[in-house]
Amino acid sequence: MINFQYVRANSIADAVNLIADDPAAKFVAGGTNLIDLMKMDVEQPTKLIDISRLALDKVEDTAEGGLRIGAMVRNSDLAYHPAVEARYPVLSSAIRAGASQQLRNMASTGGNLLQRTRCAYFYDIALPCNKRTPGSGCGALAGHNRMHAILGTSDACIAVFPSDMCVALALLEARVHVSGPNGARTIAFDAFHRLPGETPQRDNNLEPGEMIVAVELPSAGFASNYSYLKIRDRLSYAFALVSVGVGLEIADGRIKAARLALGGVAHKPWRDTRAEAALAGQAANEAVFRQAADIVLRDARGFGHNNFKIELARRAIIRALTQAANGTPQSQSNKKIA
Ligand SMILES: Cc1cc2nc3c(=O)[nH]c(=O)nc-3n(C[C@H](O)[C@H](O)[C@H](O)COP(=O)(O)OP(=O)(O)OC[C@H]3O[C@@H](n4cnc5c(N)ncnc54)[C@H](O)[C@@H]3O)c2cc1C
Repeated sequence: MINFQYVRANSIADAVNLIADDPAAKFVAGGTNLIDLMKMDVEQPTKLIDISRLALDKVEDTAEGGLRIGAMVRNSDLAYHPAVEARYPVLSSAIRAGASQQLRNMASTGGNLLQRTRCAYFYDIALPCNKRTPGSGCGALAGHNRMHAILGTSDACIAVFPSDMCVALALLEARVHVSGPNGARTIAFDAFHRLPGETPQRDNNLEPGEMIVAVELPSAGFASNYSYLKIRDRLSYAFALVSVGVGLEIADGRIKAARLALGGVAHKPWRDTRAEAALAGQAANEAVFRQAADIVLRDARGFGHNNFKIELARRAIIRALTQAANGTPQSQSNKKIA
């Protein structure tokens, strides 16, 4: 049991001032990840700054034809928002692939981006983990690493970032609007999350005291040819072993533009622009999809228990590209893989 204070923020400026006064404080939104981590002594904030009642719960059209999603929009509200279902179905599908309905009712957009890894070594304070306690070592490297990363790893950390929603945001080229002690700024989605390198304790590029206020989607939503395929141990309520988000623009059987991102394989949503470039201009067929999968996995590396993920990812990429090209996206209500 840890002692902490609780305070409710009245505005974005109030929230930013409150955290500037106490760097060991934390924002709490839906609380679905942070409170669990506090119960397990992984996170020990001195103060919780409740941002859940701030007026950041709107989904609004932008002048550029995109959408601006407030940081407090709940995952369920976003997944079933008419504009998201119609214009960005890959985002709707990815959110619905995650967690459970009850959790999605609480979980917020900002909190989803900032959820922490599900690595068992991170959660167990009796075990070494460079992400939780820098310098203590990585228990997963030679330990139980079935769920762990195959791309972008370092000797310090092989944890994966577990979000489904963020895979879709990566391929949609979302932008993250933040507010902090030095004012407001916008971060491209690809530059938001980090690879572990020597500093796995840092999941993302937010500066101390910065708060996410919104996520913005550009106009391209790939609504006709998309798929979000999630492979997991159970058909629901389980984190991805591998997931693949795809958006294609197809004309006369040829791919005009492609977006491809993976979840469950790296410390951040793994988008591969080289594979996307290789798909562009090609006929939409299995040989081309296989080539793209080979490009994505060119530097993949297993650590023993997770070696199977490399072939699983290859097959999932080909399957998801096929689903997207055929206009038969993976269903999230009937999860049998077509
Ligand atoms: C049993 C279980 C199963 C799950 N399964 C899945 C799954 O399959 N797929 C998936 O994607 N997710 C899954 N999740 C994770 C879930 O999606 C996240 O817990 C949720 O999205 C976090 O949102 P939240 O609002 O509750 O965040 P909180 O727990 O409130 O906060 C999380 C972190 O974000 C920070 N934070 C929150 N909002 C902001 C903000 N606006 N600005 C700055 N910092 C902020 C907090 O300080 C904290 O550090 C699962 C969770 C549970 C408990």
